[in-house]
Amino acid sequence: MTSSQAAKHKKYWLQVVLDVPLRGPFDYWHDAAVATGSRVLVSFGRRKLIGIVTATLEQPFYDQEKVRPIEQVLEDLPPLPAEWLAMGEFAARYYQRPLGEVLLPALPPPLRTPAAYTGKRSAGGPVARLRRRSAKGPDAVPAVAAPELSAEQAAAVAAIGAESPGRFLLYGVTGSGKTEVYLQAALQVLQAGQQVLFMVPEINLTPQFELGLRQRLQDDQQAYAIHVMHSGLAQGARLRSWLAAYEGEADVLLGTRMSVFTPMPRLGLIIVDEEHDTSYKQQEGLRYSARDLAVWRAHQAQIPVVLGSATPALESWAHAQQGNYQCLRLTQRARAMALPDIQLVDIRQETPPHGLSARLLRAIEERLANNEQVLIFINRRGYAPVLRCGSCGWLSHCSRCSAYAVLHKGLRHYLQCHHCGEQWRVERACPECGDPDLRPLGRGTQRLEEFLQQQFSHARVLRIDADSTRRKGAAEKLFGQVHAGEVDILVGTQMVSKGHDFKRLGLVGVLNADAALFSQDFRAPERLFAQLVQVAGRAGRHQEGAEVLVQTEYPDHPVYQALVAQDYERFANAELKEREALLLPPYSYQALLTTEAQTLKQSLAFLQQARHWAVQWLQARGWEQIQVYDPVPLHIVRVADRERAQLLVESPSRAALQRFLPAWDEMLAQLAQKMRRTYTLEVDPLSI
Ligand code: ADP
Ligand code: ZN
Ligand code: ZN
Repeated sequence: MTSSQAAKHKKYWLQVVLDVPLRGPFDYWHDAAVATGSRVLVSFGRRKLIGIVTATLEQPFYDQEKVRPIEQVLEDLPPLPAEWLAMGEFAARYYQRPLGEVLLPALPPPLRTPAAYTGKRSAGGPVARLRRRSAKGPDAVPAVAAPELSAEQAAAVAAIGAESPGRFLLYGVTGSGKTEVYLQAALQVLQAGQQVLFMVPEINLTPQFELGLRQRLQDDQQAYAIHVMHSGLAQGARLRSWLAAYEGEADVLLGTRMSVFTPMPRLGLIIVDEEHDTSYKQQEGLRYSARDLAVWRAHQAQIPVVLGSATPALESWAHAQQGNYQCLRLTQRARAMALPDIQLVDIRQETPPHGLSARLLRAIEERLANNEQVLIFINRRGYAPVLRCGSCGWLSHCSRCSAYAVLHKGLRHYLQCHHCGEQWRVERACPECGDPDLRPLGRGTQRLEEFLQQQFSHARVLRIDADSTRRKGAAEKLFGQVHAGEVDILVGTQMVSKGHDFKRLGLVGVLNADAALFSQDFRAPERLFAQLVQVAGRAGRHQEGAEVLVQTEYPDHPVYQALVAQDYERFANAELKEREALLLPPYSYQALLTTEAQTLKQSLAFLQQARHWAVQWLQARGWEQIQVYDPVPLHIVRVADRERAQLLVESPSRAALQRFLPAWDEMLAQLAQKMRRTYTLEVDPLSI
């Protein structure tokens, strides 16, 4: 259309957000009104993109002559609702990202991929295509009757039902039956005709919960519709779940962190299980906390939210202490089982040759003889963390990172750097001195598996870690074997520690936990404590007399002492006191600026400039409540030939920090352009 022809039409000026690194929104026009929240196909530079209309304007901001028309309004779905846009706006503002970089990635990929609409084979777009393929619903599962609730469980369910919109911290020891509380609370909401968003931290936990939900969320009249969402699903399946939630056909959406962004018109309750889990924090792109967004969303929708954990995040615990969240306690295990006995095994004298102390080996033997399962937990995958030359002391460094390359055994042995991902074959001889005497140093899951299989040759040993579960469906299969009782000794990383309800597990052995004691990250003790309580909590869920043995060279360390006492509250309150004294979160709010360059010097130079500007800006306004620290190298400085550094900004006032960050970010964008650097600015970082 020529411009004179176009002039005959009335033009509707629209603001559109796009998933591009430039700050939007962008101006476009159309010859008819377009509702806010509509998805539109537009040209951007030479590309076609799908964007979302966020407003209609009287006049464009951009030069009218240059504003381009929208190519197509996508009408396969009703416009996205205002609450959904509002949540995106909040997240964009809070986490300092362009709105388009928040909203578009929150949609299932086909809904934002132009090729899904424009190609010859697009056939009306992905939604139309999906609707033509009839979905086979899941097979019905027999209903399972609800157990009689304990008094504490019943009180928790009643509290959640009574106070809407309430914020609840369901603090219940491992095995206390938190799931039962979620189910009953969900049932109340479902019976009132509303939807439930049920979040779990890990993909691997969805099958267990999905089955539990299907068994329980049905009555004589109907089985409620349960849909699952996580990044392991095929695109079509994920789109189907999203549509079911969006169109109100799904009663329950069970999913990982990404599901927090799913529009749900009848939403009546949000549950965040294992709310302390760091997997709720996205570590790239929009670095959001799904737990925090869930709380915000529930508040906005005026519905209850339940955060559940045996080891609540200290942020959540502080909220409960301050009365912002109502604390619901489950102090007893549901099946009248005692918590497992946790003991420390002092290995200072012994230095066990294969990593397992005599005491642990004996305990394994006894449990196996008793037909119980054993879990050996070590947070290190691979065969050995480093390969060493016996004659000259050469160590297997990664050439691109300041880290060792890990030895893995396979058809061919290989070294792999867990930071840049690079793999290479193990040389026959030392690259320095030519001696063939190369030896693995230390141990990971693979080496333990090998040793345990030799030691207990009749036992069925299984390893679950990122390597053994890489293939699609592998994790589900392996966990299935464990649950079916086909495994005697399970060796695993933190993947096995979360949420699973193992039936015959009588012993947990913990190796190498000490490494976490010396982290410079102030959250390391909190994370270690939570992780050990979680893994210990896998034991003795269905039988008495379970035991947890933690090998350590620091048996007097306060984290271990609190663990043995199984006293989360004492631990949490002591930690909070310390954090308060040092003005650390949750008593202050942080943002972390990170950059990388060929040299550390370049990285630090960028951060120095960023700091200089920040300090000037703050001084000019006389703001004293924001502290800007000195730039420092990251703990692992070099990754994939890039050297990294960071700069921390901290304030006791969240509002002050939130007022400062947009101004700083704008300046950082200019500085980055000038100095040809890239950076990430992370709000509420979880590891520093
Ligand atoms: P948590 O999530 O708190 O660690 P779960 O919800 O997995 O604990 O519950 C532990 C076990 O106790 C499960 O096998 C569950 O079926 C069972 N359970 C929960 N509540 C009850 C109850 N009221 N009576 C009997 N068994 C229960
Ligand atoms: Zn050598
Ligand atoms: Zn590397």
